[in-house]
Amino acid sequence: MDRTYLIKPVIDAEYPMIDYGKGVYLYDSEGKEYLDASSGAITANIGHGVQEIIDAMTEQAKRVSFVYRSQFTSEPAEKLAKKIASLSFPELNWCFFVNSGSEATETAMKISIQYWQEKGVMTKTKVLSRWMSYHGITLGALSMSGHTGRRARFIPLLEDFPVIQPPYCYRCPYNKEAPECGYLCANELDNMIRRIGSEHIAAFIAEPIIGASGAAITPPQDYYKVIKEICERHQILFIADEVMTGFGRTGTMLACEQWGVEPDIVTLGKGMGAGYTPIAATLVGDHVMEPIVSGSKTIMGGHTLSANPQACAVSLAVIEYLEKNKIIPEVKKKGEYLKAKLLQLQKSFSFIGDIRGRGLMLGIEFVQNFVEKKPFPRAMKVTESMISIAQHHGLLVYPAGAGSDGVNGDAVMIAPPLNITFKEMDDLIQRLQETLQQFT
Ligand code: PLP
Repeated sequence: MDRTYLIKPVIDAEYPMIDYGKGVYLYDSEGKEYLDASSGAITANIGHGVQEIIDAMTEQAKRVSFVYRSQFTSEPAEKLAKKIASLSFPELNWCFFVNSGSEATETAMKISIQYWQEKGVMTKTKVLSRWMSYHGITLGALSMSGHTGRRARFIPLLEDFPVIQPPYCYRCPYNKEAPECGYLCANELDNMIRRIGSEHIAAFIAEPIIGASGAAITPPQDYYKVIKEICERHQILFIADEVMTGFGRTGTMLACEQWGVEPDIVTLGKGMGAGYTPIAATLVGDHVMEPIVSGSKTIMGGHTLSANPQACAVSLAVIEYLEKNKIIPEVKKKGEYLKAKLLQLQKSFSFIGDIRGRGLMLGIEFVQNFVEKKPFPRAMKVTESMISIAQHHGLLVYPAGAGSDGVNGDAVMIAPPLNITFKEMDDLIQRLQETLQQFT
């Protein structure tokens, strides 16, 4: 008898066996078709089976797949660092490669602490963040994450970092509306820094649009301007976690561009390899690198596979594909089309409380009572059943609500590959409508 097992996310759950993928569709071993409206975990940004990426992968594998970064640099790594720097803010000229979003945010945390140490300030070691945030599963990243469900088991091992409310306008804790609210949630950062003492705080980290634990919670227009001003005033670095929002997901290379706010450090992941390879990066501003370059000259971080030529070549091919097919400039228009369709659906289903998000990162929050915004009881497992009904109708959506956080409502995200066509978006909406009808 076979006594070896693959540990799956839910150990005794039945998962379909994937066979292959083409474009926005996936096919399991029984021939069932799924429209990938979640790009996996908001990762497969250019869809599945793209020949140009397969070719780039093969070409690089024929030359060399791996070298250790303390022995060699490589052309793909050098080119990718330059390319990414050219696509982001002018100051973000330094690029540190890792293999996952968690490693990227963990590295950002360490660099922010090291920055202050190199300047001779040894007390700035905390990284503040927000509730309803997710920055990764490793202990440093989880310490900065306000995702109660993912933290619970490891609380004794975590630093007590997250402190302020998210800009969750749909359920504003102050019961106010922007901009009349005066951005009270952002100003909580100011209060918190005063309480803790800025001499203890290295940085503040935030997802520009909250994904995994918020289902595309999008802040009001001047929120990040207020945050950046507070960080500057208290001499605290601002880290933008663009692991989910980066690489065009919201219609610009980085989501922060849309608020005109330049972070000191940015993290990237997911769409960077678009699911074709594990790769992520921490981008660092010139002024943050300066004391390190003139000080210890080394960043205490990195992993065996960091900057391996294979992954870097794949990521370069992904960027080339995005550029050649002018995919990012189309995201805004596609996102508006999809959002308009979702808002149309909302009129027919009273349990759709909120539709939010930007570009092709959209969230749907479900409620028991539309007027009172009353969440469903957790025991009903609405997010989970929505996902399974959708799967039955050949649609993949992402469990991303506060429901997955066990705190507020249930929600899912709709975030298809960025090169989805308008016809495919109509197919997506059709499958979603069937899902919602079955839930009713
Ligand atoms: N940061 C954000 C904003 C994320 O959404 C995620 C994953 O969902 C991570 C970090 C962690 O990335 P990874 O799962 O690649 O470690």
